[in-house]
Amino acid sequence: MERLGTLWKYQEIDLLMDQHILDKKNSDSRKKLLKIRNYLVRQEENLISMDKDASQRNNLLGKLYEEYNGISGRIHTQIEKMESDEIISMEELEQLTKEGLILKDLIRRKEEELKRLSKDLDNFKKRINNIRQKVSEAKKEYIEVKKVYDAEVAAINKELAILKKQRDAVAQNIDKALMAKYKNIKASRTPVISPLTGNQCGGCFMSLASLVVQRVKDGKRIVECENCGRILYDKESIPS
Ligand SMILES: [Zn+2]
Repeated sequence: MERLGTLWKYQEIDLLMDQHILDKKNSDSRKKLLKIRNYLVRQEENLISMDKDASQRNNLLGKLYEEYNGISGRIHTQIEKMESDEIISMEELEQLTKEGLILKDLIRRKEEELKRLSKDLDNFKKRINNIRQKVSEAKKEYIEVKKVYDAEVAAINKELAILKKQRDAVAQNIDKALMAKYKNIKASRTPVISPLTGNQCGGCFMSLASLVVQRVKDGKRIVECENCGRILYDKESIPS
């Protein structure tokens, strides 16, 4: 059957084009690009929140320094008082000593807190820098992989353009109604034309009535599989 043979040829090119389009979608470099892009998006978000966190820690450290300086100032005032020639009472002296001990303890604790907090902040900043470094490396990698991907896509698109010309040429010999039927079936299942396998539809493997099989073999008209709707053809009748 001549027109089915032409449609078969059309389908061959059509399926080849589908495969190229799928190759583009499934390309390793495309997957890699998506992975890097997702990583970059995640890390940019991460860095924004970490920067915010770092600035909060910085503020806290600043406040702690202020407190430390305040205590240090009080100690200094006390020492000046004790070292002055001013005559003070015994009670006052005892009070000053007691206060001095408390202040000494307080400043020691603030010093520890300061040390701990600045160490934390340093580590935190190191982590941020580490991420920044990785992000910058990922950006470089993205550019490199993108080059590979773009070259792949350009090659596939070139091939697709050639195939499309071939397919369009074949399509000129297919009547509109048959082409519309092909496209209609293609919208839900592919391939559209399915070979007879014994008495089964090669697309859905449903057993066909012998009358249907005979009609397909006769090749006088277009026969669709009753189950899946594909156009059936007899391999023997179509030149390979
Ligand atoms: Zn079928």
